[in-house]
Amino acid sequence: MDEKLIIAGPCTFGSYEELYKVAEEVKKRGIKYLRAGTFKMRTSPDSFQGLREEGMEMLLKIKKELGLKIVTELTSIEQVKKYGDKIDIIQIGARNMYNYELLKEVGKTKTPVILKRSFSATYKEWILAAKYIKNGGNNNIILCERGIRNFISDETRYILDIQAISYIKKNTNYPIIVDPSHASGAAYMVEAMSKASLAAGADGLLIEVHYNPEESLCDKNQIIDFETLDRILEYNKK
Ligand code: PEP
Ligand code: MN
Repeated sequence: MDEKLIIAGPCTFGSYEELYKVAEEVKKRGIKYLRAGTFKMRTSPDSFQGLREEGMEMLLKIKKELGLKIVTELTSIEQVKKYGDKIDIIQIGARNMYNYELLKEVGKTKTPVILKRSFSATYKEWILAAKYIKNGGNNNIILCERGIRNFISDETRYILDIQAISYIKKNTNYPIIVDPSHASGAAYMVEAMSKASLAAGADGLLIEVHYNPEESLCDKNQIIDFETLDRILEYNKK
């Protein structure tokens, strides 16, 4: 990839207005890809699970209205069948990296796929997961490092394995992007981790951003504001 793949947007959204406001700010900055989760894979079943089908309709409306490309997580075979060819990039979340039946279904689509690394996956397991998609005929795969489990995770949610960038570059032909938001779980770290990832050769970034992170229904501690995003974009131009 020559140009870096910059994807930004809310973790999730609770209304069309909220989604629109974030999307508008993303678009203003010349970013082409909007991330936003509507089928949320939450650790607790009692946490907000996303607006689901209703949210997907909102995402498709945003795509039409603002012309942004939509990157969103699909979590079931049924969702892939229904929405796989309507969105621009299918995101497979860390929790589903080992869901081989889902990966096989994604392999049947022609839509680009972001395959997130599971928090405890070795590089080899991650690459083999990609092969499940590839074997179905879809080789448009982008790997995404999003942080791994570690013994200090009480303080930082996960830890960014920046070495993954070098490993994937040396051993595969897949592009690799980094999600500094989930990796650190802390907004104040996201700018530095984004710059470090770009400096280490990452092909892009997947970042959670909001006009008012406090308002987010999910992951508010790790969501950056647009001023921070602007500094990251500035660095990326250099
Ligand atoms: C996300 O990007 O919305 C997400 C839930 O990330 P992960 O699957 O890496 O936890
Ligand atoms: Mn999130």
